[in-house]
Amino acid sequence: MEITELQLQQVNDRIKELEKSGSFYGQKLNEAGIHEVHSPEDFKKLPFSEKKDLRNAYPLGLMTAPEEKIVRIHSSSGTTGKPVIIPYTQKDVDDWATQFARCFEFAGVTKLDRVQITPGYGLWTAGIGFQAGCEKLGAMAIPMGPGNTEKQLEMMINLKSTVICATSSYALLLAEEIEKRGLKNQICLKRGVIGSERWSKKMRDKISSTLGIELFDIYGLTEIYGPGIGISCKYNTGMHYWDDFIYLEIIDPKTGENVPDGEFGEIVITTLVKEGAPLIRYRTHDLSRIIPGQCECGSKYPRIDSIQGRTDDMMKIKGVNVFPSQIEEIIAEFDEINSEYQIHISHLDGKDTMRIYVEAVSGRVNFAETAEKLAERIKSKIGFTPIVKVVEEGVLPRSTKKTARVIDERYN
Ligand code: ZN
Repeated sequence: MEITELQLQQVNDRIKELEKSGSFYGQKLNEAGIHEVHSPEDFKKLPFSEKKDLRNAYPLGLMTAPEEKIVRIHSSSGTTGKPVIIPYTQKDVDDWATQFARCFEFAGVTKLDRVQITPGYGLWTAGIGFQAGCEKLGAMAIPMGPGNTEKQLEMMINLKSTVICATSSYALLLAEEIEKRGLKNQICLKRGVIGSERWSKKMRDKISSTLGIELFDIYGLTEIYGPGIGISCKYNTGMHYWDDFIYLEIIDPKTGENVPDGEFGEIVITTLVKEGAPLIRYRTHDLSRIIPGQCECGSKYPRIDSIQGRTDDMMKIKGVNVFPSQIEEIIAEFDEINSEYQIHISHLDGKDTMRIYVEAVSGRVNFAETAEKLAERIKSKIGFTPIVKVVEEGVLPRSTKKTARVIDERYN
């Protein structure tokens, strides 16, 4: 998606503020000798912002508006090093609620819905984002926060909650509890708004069929408001994002160049109207693609595909970008193999080769035939043919870390 005139103007306004505040990005611009952008080509010359820039600004170095305009901060939970603190002005808080209310609308939520919110509250952007959006829309928020399944089910039944907001893993846990306790006929849920983790189709189907509800994927990250900058609609063909608040690009994570619409790469986001901590060309390390064309729902808001993983997971085979999640999804289509797998990538005779090892489910598998079928399926869905080996159940090493399943022998 090419950047528009209006968006360029908004970027220039942000640049002005960033330079005035003396933030890290103002300094980057000085080094690059850029102070204004007038065309899509200009825009692409702007330097990227990285998570480490944000960390280095700890605690309040990202504050771009005067302190009297800052009404709140949020923080992303840094698993390594210093956290990132994001300051918000009243306008930022309102804009975020507007975007989140739009998400609920896209999910078919109305003023008559009762919305049970299970993501966490506090420094974290999750819970409060769901709540503000819900109130802005005019629905009834039930601010539960995470955990305490007993209480969650009690409130869900007594208050007749119609919408559940949760992570996919918590939604699955609740679904399993409801099934186990035979409570399904006592719950009134119709919709689930599910945030922020990559989840498999199997998991999605399980939650949706167990609870008998329609599910919507919500997207967002603390650095850019929080959850609520995009959501899937009822056609479930990717997530619409709000291009009146953000400009979204997809780049090749290795070269930093923009990739054509439809191709997978890293999501890079520019905030167009944010005051407290505007970000220009922020590298999210989330992998997705822009889905070309218009959605069946008729909305003009552009779409990205569901998040395929992180840039660190990406592999390049014969010029095609591949993620373990894509292979994983295809493996899941086969009943005769289980979910264990191992991927080896090597470079032989001037060619990249991928070997995939999968485990047969005991007793009912023709190894050669299954291997051939899986290789064909990968060829048709991803675009290259791997070498597939089916092995006996229990042969592959068990690991909870997804990355340990990929062994790239090219760089050893
Ligand atoms: Zn749509």
